[in-house]
Amino acid sequence: MSTANTAKHQIVIVGGGTAGITVASRLLRKGYTDVAVVEPSESHYYHPLWTLVGGGQVKASSTERPEASVMPKGATWIKNTASAFDPDNNTITCADGATYEYDVLVVCPGIQLDWNRTDGLEETLGRDGVSSNYRFDLAPRTWDFIRSMRSGTAVFTMPSGPIKCAGAPQKIAYLASDHWRKEGVLNNIDVHLVVPTPRLFGVPAIADSLDRIAADYGITVHTNTEMTAVDAQGHKVSLTSVGAGGTDTLLSYDVLHAVPHQSAPDWVKTSPLSTGDANGYVEIDKHTMQHVRYPNVFSLGDAGSSPNSKTGAAVRKQAPVVVENIDSFLKSQPLQAGYDGYASCPIVTSSHAMLLAEFDYDFNLTPSVPLLDPTKPHRAYWYLKKYGLPFMYWNLMLKGLS
Ligand SMILES: Cc1cc2nc3c(=O)[nH]c(=O)nc-3n(C[C@H](O)[C@H](O)[C@H](O)COP(=O)(O)OP(=O)(O)OC[C@H]3O[C@@H](n4cnc5c(N)ncnc54)[C@H](O)[C@@H]3O)c2cc1C
Repeated sequence: MSTANTAKHQIVIVGGGTAGITVASRLLRKGYTDVAVVEPSESHYYHPLWTLVGGGQVKASSTERPEASVMPKGATWIKNTASAFDPDNNTITCADGATYEYDVLVVCPGIQLDWNRTDGLEETLGRDGVSSNYRFDLAPRTWDFIRSMRSGTAVFTMPSGPIKCAGAPQKIAYLASDHWRKEGVLNNIDVHLVVPTPRLFGVPAIADSLDRIAADYGITVHTNTEMTAVDAQGHKVSLTSVGAGGTDTLLSYDVLHAVPHQSAPDWVKTSPLSTGDANGYVEIDKHTMQHVRYPNVFSLGDAGSSPNSKTGAAVRKQAPVVVENIDSFLKSQPLQAGYDGYASCPIVTSSHAMLLAEFDYDFNLTPSVPLLDPTKPHRAYWYLKKYGLPFMYWNLMLKGLS
């Protein structure tokens, strides 16, 4: 029951990013009238274009809109930061002490960028050739460093563990190499791509294609390896092989594009909703998206434990499942909708081509456009990435229409 200090909403959504706004719009379209979104930020970002910002193709400002402009009409915007869950009492608490009660809770506050898990990285970001497309303010710096480079060594790294858009760490290596080739300086630049995985992609046919693309640019690919430290003064990174008995090597850099380790936000990790392991995501059934211990709690997007590739494309398929299953739950009916792990990874391979990898939990390829070979880059996909997908995001997906 609500107390004087506790406002009650039928459905409370934590996080008004890609997942939160999409789910809120769909719930309202379904006829639910008491939907609240807890979101502290005044801005909403379309992250997938940050790769193109770093590659000098798009302005950062085009990826940001006021949160108010995407908040669906009819939703209650609680401009606050959630800080604790009490699922036994169906309440959440916010940073200012306000509490909110719910019948159903949807948890989607995104993922945390753990810069501090790589020694020396955070303090050098944005300076001395070091940048990352994983932050809105830094993506333009990536382009500054790429376009002013004429010779030397460029290093692009990907950390171990789940991250959002696992293709992004390598896309920028291809965009940069393509730019340097056009400028006639690629032969003067020693390009290194460091990945913790055995291959550049989990689907063998796509990995073969990416091997050819990397080789064509002359990129040295370090597999089963990750960056563990940055020595900004010495302009060197430490690389360590992933797995037991890893050995360290040092590599000099002039430009470094770094992607941080990622995990659930700390306050989610320590909450009763967490898996309790080091990554600490919200522990849900990977098909129904319902919490495994608290049936009136659902999660999706980057904060959920479902083992899909963490992308906006996955959110697009998860959101209708979450909404259908919330509807069934509130009507005391069995949950019918299931998510199959679909995700897509648009891998930009140059300034005019893109490979669209679409796959499910079992890494079966699930192409939306069967006529285009999904293992090869296509120009049509480039236009989709730069124009089609952003249009679809702002005008259809966030409005609950796609
Ligand atoms: C460089 C880059 C490239 C990418 N490229 C692609 C791509 O090509 N294709 C693709 O599909 N995906 C891509 N992604 C991934 C995609 O952007 C994410 O998977 C998607 O945004 C996840 O949605 P989400 O709602 O879970 O998280 P977000 O969109 O990050 O939203 C989380 C929201 O929660 C809010 N929040 C945080 N903490 C709290 C709190 N305590 N209380 C309340 N609210 C809180 C945040 O302010 C934010 O608005 C890319 C991501 C990056 C960084």
